[in-house]
Amino acid sequence: MKVTKKKIIVNRVTMIIAIILGFLIITAYMVLSDINHTNKAVFYFDNFVRNERYDIVRNEVLNRIDEIEYDLSILHEEEKKLIKSKIDMIGNTLAGSALLKIDNMEKRRKEGLKEFERIAQGDKEYLYFALSCDGKLLRSGTDETKEGKSLIDFKDKDGVYFAREMIKAKDNPEGIYVTYHWPKEKDGKPFKKTSFCLYVPELDMIIGTGSYHVDVEQALKEATFSRIQSYYKDSEDYVFIVGYDGTAHVFGDNRLIGTDIKNILDSNGRAIHNLFMETLETENEGFVNYCYYKKNLDEMSEKVSFVKALDRWEAYIGMGFHIDDLNEELDIYVDDIQMESYNKVIVTIIALLFFALVILYFVRRSLQLQSQYMYQEEIVFEQLFQLSSEGILIVSNKGDIMFCNPIIDKMIGENLKKYIGEKGQLNLKSVSEGVYSIESPNGRTYYIECDCKSIIYHDVDSYIYFITNITTNFLKSNELERMALYDELTSLPNRRKLLNDFEDMIEDNSHNQSPVLAMIDIDHFKNVNDKYGHNVGDEVLKLLGECFNGRLRHGDNIYRLGGEEFVVVFNNTTIEDAQGVLKDIMNTFSQWNEELNGFPVTFSAGAIKIDSNLESATSLENLLNDADKLLYQAKNKGRSRVEIHLDKDNDTI
Ligand code: GH3
Ligand code: MG
Ligand code: MG
Repeated sequence: MKVTKKKIIVNRVTMIIAIILGFLIITAYMVLSDINHTNKAVFYFDNFVRNERYDIVRNEVLNRIDEIEYDLSILHEEEKKLIKSKIDMIGNTLAGSALLKIDNMEKRRKEGLKEFERIAQGDKEYLYFALSCDGKLLRSGTDETKEGKSLIDFKDKDGVYFAREMIKAKDNPEGIYVTYHWPKEKDGKPFKKTSFCLYVPELDMIIGTGSYHVDVEQALKEATFSRIQSYYKDSEDYVFIVGYDGTAHVFGDNRLIGTDIKNILDSNGRAIHNLFMETLETENEGFVNYCYYKKNLDEMSEKVSFVKALDRWEAYIGMGFHIDDLNEELDIYVDDIQMESYNKVIVTIIALLFFALVILYFVRRSLQLQSQYMYQEEIVFEQLFQLSSEGILIVSNKGDIMFCNPIIDKMIGENLKKYIGEKGQLNLKSVSEGVYSIESPNGRTYYIECDCKSIIYHDVDSYIYFITNITTNFLKSNELERMALYDELTSLPNRRKLLNDFEDMIEDNSHNQSPVLAMIDIDHFKNVNDKYGHNVGDEVLKLLGECFNGRLRHGDNIYRLGGEEFVVVFNNTTIEDAQGVLKDIMNTFSQWNEELNGFPVTFSAGAIKIDSNLESATSLENLLNDADKLLYQAKNKGRSRVEIHLDKDNDTI
């Protein structure tokens, strides 16, 4: 594959675009997934926080109720302990008193009751009572008129015979608690009461005291109201406790405590207390939507409150929140999530950008190193080119010389351009197969071999030529060839060349006429040598060659077989024409020789037609023999004549 700068640049640009695209896709994916994630988070948060806010409010209310229950139970326990301790103390006092010295039981009980009365009088807070073991009321804390009466058949509103329960203390030395309803004197209502009863064996009677649950609860109620009120004093969200009759016991606005809030309306003109009461009627607890003031603000806004009945105090307890506060909170949170998401996206983009820059840096660095490496390689190649013993020439396909090494410069130099064609091809003069000749500027001819390849050089489609100077070898081999195939004296081709050419001639069927072969021998040449000397003889031989070469057509050839014998091959001619030519040449030769050497010389010849179907080599010998025979005839017939053979059947003429 051809690598060009353009391809490298396209490759680099593609790579950079790929990196940027990858970066953009990752970023887009992250941004989109993050936005998606953020939206989901906001959605879940919205639902979660709203639900949670409802739960918080509800749990706050339920926790307060649990607290109250718990406080009450603690209070009852403490109260129970207190009354037990009081009775235990009185029991001990009575058991340890001087009463025991009184032997008469009737008297002792009487004195004992007096002592009990004395102690009871000292503690106005509690109501102490004493029962005989058969249920007769010996001492009443509330109603003296009932003293001496039996309570054994008295049952409370739940059907509990509490006196019968109390006298069970006789069987329990530790004392027992009895819970029952007792019609309290003030309003005649039966209030629940828990009493501790202890049997005092020394006096054979049961003593006890108790407290009303309602009193304990009252204490708790007051403590609870003030605790809750102060607990939510500075809080925006507050717990409120309002009596069924509309009295505010605990309320966000201190000024409304103790007042009737039945007439407080929300922005739609509905009495808020009624809304709460309606909810409580159906469900005993529930959420109520309405509009109300925020704590310490004059403006009303949508509010949701959870209310639950607090039946024991004929009140309801509730807590609410303003929807817009929740929305504000949500907005802040959503902003936070989104900001976090944007920050994440920005950090991600910066990180990716940094990452992309690092990648680009390394890519660029590696490309730089690569190009440096290639440049170094280029230098090495350039040097190799410079030092090469072969001529190296690079020509663009437009014919521009891109590079040539010193060998080329020396061989062709400024003549170079004349060899370069339009498309960068070298127009060389072919000498033989694969061998070309070129002229150097100083007129010397170089023989070269040339190899060509197409390449991209400096981004241009070019040809690189490797030119090998083979002048010396070429000339040497030419000389050898000449020596082998040519006669030194006359420079005419010799017998070996005749054989080579004859083989080619046999293969070449392009001519209409088959060739004519003539054997020539100089007449009385021995005499020439003898008479004028060997040198003159040589001159005669040379002159014959020149004479023939000057007269023969292109394609006809004369060969020196040896001595003063020659062979002429006429192509594409009739034997008669050949005979005519030979006679002409003989005349010319004789005439020229006379002019040159001062005496005429003739030759005799025998000519035959060559059959083109002949075999080579052995055939040549046969042909030469045939021609020689005719030549011999010509000699015999007096010399200076040309004998020809028309065909096998005809005789010579
Ligand atoms: P004919 O007419 O029968 O051919 O008589 P001729 O004398 O020409 O024939 P012959 O074969 O008797 O003589 C040939 C002579 O050619 C003998 C030889 O000395 C001479 N000769 C052969 N080669 C050369 C040469 O290279 N130079 C010279 N000067 N003479 C040569
Ligand atoms: Mg001869
Ligand atoms: Mg001769």
